[in-house]
Amino acid sequence: MTSTGKGVTVCAKVCPAYNTHVYGFDSSLSIPSIFTSSLYTYKLVMTSVFPLLKIGPFNEYPDEYSSVDAADALRNSKVLVIGAGGLGCEILKNLALTGFKSIEVIDMDTIDISNLNRQFLFRESDVGRPKAEVAAEFIRQRIRDPSLSIVPFFGKIQDKPLEYYKQFTVVICGLDSVEARRWINATLVGLVDEELNNLIPLVDGGTEGFRGQARVILPTLTSCYECSLDMLSTKQTYPVCTIANTPRLPEHCIEWANALEWPVHFSGLKFDADNPEHLDWMYEASLKRAKLFNIKGVTRSLTLGVVKNIIPAIAATNAIVAASCCNEVFKIVTNSNPILNNYMMYSGDDSIFTYTFSHTKKKDCSVCGNTAKTTIAQKWWTLQDFISQLSKNQEIQMKRPSLTTSTQQLYLRAPEALEEATRGNLIKKLSDLIEPMEEILVTDPSLPISLKVRVHFEGPEEKPDTISALMSDV
Ligand SMILES: [Zn+2]
Repeated sequence: MTSTGKGVTVCAKVCPAYNTHVYGFDSSLSIPSIFTSSLYTYKLVMTSVFPLLKIGPFNEYPDEYSSVDAADALRNSKVLVIGAGGLGCEILKNLALTGFKSIEVIDMDTIDISNLNRQFLFRESDVGRPKAEVAAEFIRQRIRDPSLSIVPFFGKIQDKPLEYYKQFTVVICGLDSVEARRWINATLVGLVDEELNNLIPLVDGGTEGFRGQARVILPTLTSCYECSLDMLSTKQTYPVCTIANTPRLPEHCIEWANALEWPVHFSGLKFDADNPEHLDWMYEASLKRAKLFNIKGVTRSLTLGVVKNIIPAIAATNAIVAASCCNEVFKIVTNSNPILNNYMMYSGDDSIFTYTFSHTKKKDCSVCGNTAKTTIAQKWWTLQDFISQLSKNQEIQMKRPSLTTSTQQLYLRAPEALEEATRGNLIKKLSDLIEPMEEILVTDPSLPISLKVRVHFEGPEEKPDTISALMSDV
């Protein structure tokens, strides 16, 4: 995909709703009859949606475009929304008001009182009820369009069979879970066959405070979610020397109290952020430290945020990212304009910055690539050492990996009997168990994929003493 125009061609081929239906057209009004089902919908379409269906100025294939086809595609497309939280509420509202007629929404959460400031489809009386169900009810009541079908599912995406996902034109995600994103991404990539049948575009949005991103994934054709796993932000950390000697930020003072002072005062007692007395102590200690260095900004809520690593959810960032995602869904379905190619990031925390770039596919991506990842292991590592490093690896991030080769089971977590049978390998040296560059299959119960890894051994045969071990880690 070198230009966005090519993306349009791809989509024209892959969207099942496109080019496959008999068009209902009301010639007296010159707009498709689907939009004349009620006065309300008619007004909605005349004022907002229909003008959008005109071909965009950057469409590189104007001869192939028809606004009637586009309107029909909009009506016949089936969109799956995953997540009915901060982003999900915005997405559902946008899709319904844009004229999509068939929407399904999946969410496994129930409504909490703390959601109400931004998840605007919910009211206080809804607290405790499933998000997907309440969101669908609210949209239905508000839009009052009998031709709009919005079906909720209260549960996990993993509960649905693979066949279920084949019915959708596009999947749009507004999730805060990396695991769920990896699962749906791997599932959609897995559905595509060699002739590109079942190619269902995935539009993914994400926000973190004032930052966010929207991206379009055409499974197997463009970079997938797994390809960009190493871009995930990790927990904010501060150098110990800054915390201990030269604090400049309120966060430095809180980290000082948390990491250095708490263990001194309460040796052996684990800090519990949900215990108000613990939090009070942490706040007071941080405040004292801040006063000493003349640093302003330590508050109780910031203290809680830092110790729990909480990033506030901001309604306006959700609105920006959800709007971008929905525009992409609209363009994918109607082909009116070129789609996003393929990653847009938005940053609002230091003035405003947006940047769009084409994230490239990784050849050794465990989902869409076809070569094994090469990873480095020390010759003296035990299998247990190797597994711990594998879990920490940014590009792998598997919490409970099981490992096999084509000839043997290295370590399996389930069933119990196999765990017992392979447990003895954990203390053996990996370099004694496998050949250099032998392919290992790594699986994890939370992901529908198996990852291929080849190990390149280096370093000494025996575990070096502590100092040189530390040096080799650096
Ligand atoms: Zn990939």
